[in-house]
Amino acid sequence: METIIKNTTAYIGKKLERYDNVDILIENDRIAKIGKNIRSKKAKKLDGKEFFITPGFVNAHFHPSQQFNRALGVGLSHAKQMDLLHSMSKIKRPSDRFWMSYIAVLEGLKAGTTCFYSVGSEIETQAKVYKDLGIRAACTLVPKDIVAKEKKSATRAITWETEERIKRAEELHNKYHSDLVRVHFGVVNVRYCSDQLIKGMLNLAEKYDVYFHMHAAEGDVYVNAVKERTGHRPVEHLHKIGALNHRVSMAHMTKLTKKEIGYLAKAKAHVVHCPRANAYVAAGICPVKDLMDSGVNVALASDAAINNNSNEVRGDAHAAFDKIADKYEKADLIDYLDLFKMLTINGAKAMGLEEDIGTIDVGKKADLVLWNKNDLPFIPGFNHLADLIFTDSCKAHTVYVNGKKVLSNYKAAMMNEEALKKKVRQIGKRYYSLFEKKVSKHL
Ligand SMILES: [Zn+2]
Repeated sequence: METIIKNTTAYIGKKLERYDNVDILIENDRIAKIGKNIRSKKAKKLDGKEFFITPGFVNAHFHPSQQFNRALGVGLSHAKQMDLLHSMSKIKRPSDRFWMSYIAVLEGLKAGTTCFYSVGSEIETQAKVYKDLGIRAACTLVPKDIVAKEKKSATRAITWETEERIKRAEELHNKYHSDLVRVHFGVVNVRYCSDQLIKGMLNLAEKYDVYFHMHAAEGDVYVNAVKERTGHRPVEHLHKIGALNHRVSMAHMTKLTKKEIGYLAKAKAHVVHCPRANAYVAAGICPVKDLMDSGVNVALASDAAINNNSNEVRGDAHAAFDKIADKYEKADLIDYLDLFKMLTINGAKAMGLEEDIGTIDVGKKADLVLWNKNDLPFIPGFNHLADLIFTDSCKAHTVYVNGKKVLSNYKAAMMNEEALKKKVRQIGKRYYSLFEKKVSKHL
């Protein structure tokens, strides 16, 4: 299968250099050629002059099924949000998760996201959702094996037997891992996970040559609980047990010492910055500038609809800029190209996918977003990449993932979008009444 996009504007390579009037030839899942006047008799042609093309965005920490709790946690503390999440999990019907997850992923896709580091308590749903929509993902089981004794049973998370979860994660990897929808390994965090679980999952990541993901250092309450249990801060503890390396990425990281930043840099571990989700629950500010200065790879993520009210990672680039500018009262500490790289190649690195995605280059996977130059945020269009970061209403016109068109003229190409919306509205109604009857009293 070949497609050729003719006479377009594209942002190419690691430096995101602008090329005008170029053609891009896609052969099967990869970019085969970029240049002027490329000829191909068998390729399907698409006139690209109305568009500019960027690499797809990578949302490096994302909970698709939390769409259930969207806007139900506004103004709640982090602890109360967790109570909401865990009590809602107990009344979810498995089939409902599919539908809510489709909508969450679709929202991200429409805003230019082509790859998700997807976390949750089950892999089957996640794998099906990304496969059906044609989207790239690494699905990751993030279990816990330490009981939250400080919580009442109604709001306590499910915990698992350590060896059983490690075995299950391996089975799920073997059953669902593919080129497009990957299955990685992970745990929920250091607070509720034993060293045995953390190391067991990391060993599997090494065994199958994939990556490992978790939450870490998310606010003072978590850090203090880890200190009480282990005698160390979260990242310090991971360093002590030998669980930091280039395969490890950690979301949030709002509470880090200089020493811990040093450990991360030395281990080549990755940090996933979730600025809007952190603000939503007042978990603190990730020291992005210090991390970048120390050479730590920083990617971006939306986290979950429960604590962001958005599944668009694009807006988190804007929020990342605002936090740095406000903190240091300087506007030039991070530029729009750094932010754009955080949205693309840095996310790819955090997932171990930088050879395949994150830039537009010959030989890479064809994960391409076509933005319409005639859409209002791009007029006059002096700097498209800055427009994409600092503008509120950008919508992708057409998206290719793995060489396949998955969004066409602003609509999902692989699913009936109207039927999907109808179904999710129905589920939402039932779910909201359950929330009012069974959950709101616990908050
Ligand atoms: Zn999360």
